[in-house]
Amino acid sequence: QQEELYCSGCGVRIQTEDVQKLGYVPASALSRTPLICQRCFRIKNYNESSSITLNQDDFLRLLTHVGSTESLVVNIVDLFDFEGSMISGLARFVGTNPIVLVVNKIDLLPKVTNYNRILNWVQRQVKEAGLRVVEVVLCSAKKNMGFERVIEAIEEHRKGRDIYVVGATNVGKSTLINRLIRDYSDLDAELTTSQYPGTTLDLVRIPMDDGSSIIDTPGIVYKHRMTELVGKKDLMKLMPDKPVKPLVFQLNEKQSIFFGSLMRFDFVQGERQSFTFYVSNALKAHRTKLEKADALYEEHRGVMLTPPSLEELELLPPLTKHTIRVPKGKPMDVSVSGIGWIKANSEAGADLIIHVPKGVKVALRETLI
Ligand code: GDP
Repeated sequence: QQEELYCSGCGVRIQTEDVQKLGYVPASALSRTPLICQRCFRIKNYNESSSITLNQDDFLRLLTHVGSTESLVVNIVDLFDFEGSMISGLARFVGTNPIVLVVNKIDLLPKVTNYNRILNWVQRQVKEAGLRVVEVVLCSAKKNMGFERVIEAIEEHRKGRDIYVVGATNVGKSTLINRLIRDYSDLDAELTTSQYPGTTLDLVRIPMDDGSSIIDTPGIVYKHRMTELVGKKDLMKLMPDKPVKPLVFQLNEKQSIFFGSLMRFDFVQGERQSFTFYVSNALKAHRTKLEKADALYEEHRGVMLTPPSLEELELLPPLTKHTIRVPKGKPMDVSVSGIGWIKANSEAGADLIIHVPKGVKVALRETLI
């Protein structure tokens, strides 16, 4: 009978079999003292957060105690997948604690962007979603844009309290936390990650110089995000790393555009008008007639229409249709979680069908740009 070992950092049970799972320690490192799991080791030695993930229900359960603490909640969302990365139910668990909404990845917007307009847009969306936030900050954790304001806002609102950092997967939470750790944490401090009772997953508590903590929470997995469905290789293609170059198409009704095999856009009915596509430039657009689109997909999916490759495509749910009526009167966006968004520029209205892998969220919204 093997003795059970526990991480002296977070208290999780040590295992040597699965790198992906909690408590992993390479067998060769079992004799280390104190014995800490790989994750705590990385946080401690490289000041790196490497979050595990949870679905939303488990996440909200894990954080039910937050409402009864005095803390600041820093919610990170991805501007490139705003609808997909907003946490529904956040308002319920934070109680009366203030929320700072950090909107990350603004470096992906086209170079000529009016950030005040974006800020106002986010504020309206947040209000509509019924979320009360004390401040919205736009930033790019990767390109170091707006980060001073993130720090200032946190300083202003936290008043010595602990900071809970929450967000969906891939929004840039680790990138941001690693920056926070550099700014706030005493690198030599003893790691005091602690496991919360009744949960198998823990929160990572990173001590700050003033005695309070940054609490890193698991990233929330949302099945409605394309970024959760595709493989790693395609994910890299899907997530742009440069500002997106908007693609403008003048279209007549009954025309279709494929973006790889991941999205098909049908302009079913309406006056000739222009649509602007804000998607990763790695996704090649392929235009065709609506009547030919089905056959084209059958023949060329995963081959000419990539990404994804044929093998990866087989792992994805089949395409399903979302019928969207853009009302007359003003331009609107159609957002497609993880892929980007399409702006219908005309005021004439349009009937569209968006085909995406089953489950991916498609929504009509006020124009962002
Ligand atoms: P987490 O899953 O929320 O912890 O997200 P990560 O910090 O691991 O980031 C997820 C992906 O988004 C990585 O590929 C990052 O390089 C990328 N990323 C993070 N912050 C930014 C940003 O500000 N701009 C851009 N373009 N990419 C970012």
